[in-house]
Amino acid sequence: MRIAEIFRSLQGEGRLTGTPSVFVRFSGCNLSCRYCDTPFASANPEGQDLSLERVVDLVAEHDCSHVVITGGEPMLFSDVVPLTIALSRLGRHITIETAATVDRPVHCDLMSISPKLANSTPSIDSSAKTPELIRRHEQNRHAPDVVRRLIRDYSYQLKFVVDNIQDCHEVETYLAEFPEIERTNVMLMPQGTDLRMLEKKAKWLLSYCREHNLVFCPRRQIEWFGGARGT
Ligand code: SF4
Repeated sequence: MRIAEIFRSLQGEGRLTGTPSVFVRFSGCNLSCRYCDTPFASANPEGQDLSLERVVDLVAEHDCSHVVITGGEPMLFSDVVPLTIALSRLGRHITIETAATVDRPVHCDLMSISPKLANSTPSIDSSAKTPELIRRHEQNRHAPDVVRRLIRDYSYQLKFVVDNIQDCHEVETYLAEFPEIERTNVMLMPQGTDLRMLEKKAKWLLSYCREHNLVFCPRRQIEWFGGARGT
């Protein structure tokens, strides 16, 4: 399996924020989000091809109860299934971070879903590849049957990246499509790659979450580590 990096850090987002975790980052993605902060695992996938046994050994070297399988899009790869089974046999708590566009029968203790709103669509630029990237992104970014299956069968959280109030309205439209989703599992995160941007958006987004019974989700990894790779 193609792995961009394996490292130990603290979970920076969501229900398990602050939990020491080993991160296993698959390399490769079926989306091309405008705000992607891991291009080395999506647009320009890097990394090494490692066997299942090697990945399990590298995780097991860390005395750490929690593992986060992330990407890229880890659910693109069939190897994610035996990997989650092997790690669960080691007694690890497994979070999978996914956009929920591909379904796999994984073992998972927390399905951390980041649905992609219209604000994720790549913008037109000078790249000759852009029209094809936009077409692929729009075709793939919403897979309601996959979302339904994952929230039915796993403990879950949904984390939406939000830029402005229009995005919040789009979140409500999304939630109306899935009445089974509990609002206490729905988190809104400000879009941004530095503290200044995040703080500016957090000011109004905190109020919005309070008034609309949704969970505000800070991005602590940027606050703690500046969003540097391998943290
Ligand atoms: S789904 Fe995640 S890894 Fe893939 S392009 Fe979007 S932000 Fe990047």
